[in-house]
Amino acid sequence: MFDQFALHERLLKAVAELKFTEPTPVQREAIPPALEGRDLRVIAQTGSGKTAAFVLPLLNRLIGDAQPRVRIRALILLPTRELAQQTLKEVERFSQYTFIKSGLVTGGEDFKVQAAMLRKVPDILIGTPGRLIEQLNAGNLKLNEVEVLVLDEADRMLDMGFAEDIERLTGECAARQQTLLFSATSGGNGLRDVVAKVLRNPLHLML
Ligand code: AMP
Repeated sequence: MFDQFALHERLLKAVAELKFTEPTPVQREAIPPALEGRDLRVIAQTGSGKTAAFVLPLLNRLIGDAQPRVRIRALILLPTRELAQQTLKEVERFSQYTFIKSGLVTGGEDFKVQAAMLRKVPDILIGTPGRLIEQLNAGNLKLNEVEVLVLDEADRMLDMGFAEDIERLTGECAARQQTLLFSATSGGNGLRDVVAKVLRNPLHLML
């Protein structure tokens, strides 16, 4: 049951509506430490329910704060536009009973439309590294108040040549309090470097 987790009732309501009854193994293992604010390094496959494992704790952190919406508080990095779109959908489903707003920044979409969305400042930004860097370079994006950073499919992002972009983006999120890194494989030296650089005393979970 999801009500075993210390999640806000507005999130539990959305979970119930989605007919998620039992948490998956990755959700059981990752949600409690993520809710406590720990950094996580998780090896889990697509289809394991890993998206909800990071989205629910992230929303739970943002929901408790009634401050006006003036800064990007969470950044979710993914390797492809399709994955970013799917993740946005999942975030929107879980946040439907909250005031939390999300935005998408990926390649293949109109740059100016994205810039206009960024001027309204979403609470959660979901995107692919290349276009995020372009928006950053254009001065349309501030990440210095990001509290939670998620790197999903980190092994794939590195395989696609995003190492430098990831380094830049994590550097921009210098004030973050929590970082959650997910990959399908244990990865190579590149991933080990990223794990060592961006995570602080992480809990390692392999599912
Ligand atoms: P993911 O691994 O995050 O891509 O999730 C795979 C699919 O499983 C998605 O369509 C989710 O909506 C669904 N899902 C995730 N967690 C659960 C759950 N606890 N119960 C039922 N479906 C779930």
